Amino acid sequence: MDGGEHPERIFGEDMLRWLERIADVMHENRAYLTQLDSAIGDADHGINMDRGFSSVRSKFPTMTTMDMAAQLKTVGSTLVSTVGGASGPLYGTAFLRAGGAIAGKQELTPTDVVAMLEAFLGGIVARGKAQVGEKTMVDALTPALAAAKQALGEGATLAQLTHRARVAAEEGMKATIPMLATKGRASYLGERSIGHQDPGATSSWLILRCLEEVCQDKAR
Ligand code: ADP
Ligand code: MG
Repeated sequence: MDGGEHPERIFGEDMLRWLERIADVMHENRAYLTQLDSAIGDADHGINMDRGFSSVRSKFPTMTTMDMAAQLKTVGSTLVSTVGGASGPLYGTAFLRAGGAIAGKQELTPTDVVAMLEAFLGGIVARGKAQVGEKTMVDALTPALAAAKQALGEGATLAQLTHRARVAAEEGMKATIPMLATKGRASYLGERSIGHQDPGATSSWLILRCLEEVCQDKAR
């Protein structure tokens, strides 16, 4: 069996598929994310994410020969250097740490995938110091990681595990609507931040949805 067809392992070509899908989805959702950010921020989250991932896209040709850790680290450093907003250093650190968590691996097991997601969230928390309930990406990623861990403990397949993570991220994203923002630009609005979905929680949900789609395609 060709390595890339093994449904319970993620290989370098799957990682690239995930990153390509994120680049596509950030481009497609550029207006949506920017519209969310216009309500409680400075109307640039979609622009930031699309700029960052189109720069990542330009590096895909050089990334095909890299191992997965190097691929993720390339994404991280590209986001840090090309995205001016808060999301650049936050997601940049997330991808750098995610790469660190899978150093030296040629294939990822479900356990490795959960370790990668844990490091991803850990990077955002280390950089931004936000806790759950402050209306940020952390509110989508924290329940997603918990769901992934639970699925792993129950012996779920990668497709199931990433599906459950995405569903939990979606719930976490929706749960940001009634929250009062106390971190980032949205916190400047105080009470007026209430009633709007957080843009960063939304991009985090999209990133996990892309991972789910890659794992489901493999399982077909
Ligand atoms: P900026 O706020 O600089 O314009 P973006 O618009 O690209 O940057 O990103 C805004 C998103 O960043 C917010 O919706 C929120 O989810 C996230 N964010 C901001 N500050 C933090 C933080 N300290 N920790 C985690 N996420 C944060
Ligand atoms: Mg913004």
